[in-house]
Amino acid sequence: MATLFEKICTGEIPADIVYQDEVCVCFRDINPGAPTHVLLVPRKAIPRLAMAQEDDAALLGHMLLTVGKVARLLGVDESGFRLVINNGPHAGETVPHLHMHILGGRDLEWPPG
Ligand code: AMP
Repeated sequence: MATLFEKICTGEIPADIVYQDEVCVCFRDINPGAPTHVLLVPRKAIPRLAMAQEDDAALLGHMLLTVGKVARLLGVDESGFRLVINNGPHAGETVPHLHMHILGGRDLEWPPG
């Protein structure tokens, strides 16, 4: 069965999309934790980072480069942003489809809770 984020990638479920290309889609988090909070997801349904395979190397590299592109697009590249990937129960992962949180627009605390 398709995950929520697969359905957003195909347009079956609406989202506030800020960027998309042939590999990934970036949209605003429905419950933002910062003034800028978007999720970058691959169109390919990789459940979580630890389940990525060797042949996902190009996809993962593309996503990391896209983080910079999205940060510039949203105007947080110079003020700063945090990239978060929650992997598994202890990290609070709630959607089993790899996603990168890009958070910015305010001072972020460290370490995270
Ligand atoms: P995680 O806790 O790392 O699995 O992150 C899942 C994120 O998805 C949370 O920050 C949610 O607020 C967000 N989310 C859940 N449903 C949607 C949706 N329909 N559109 C946008 N973001 C969503």
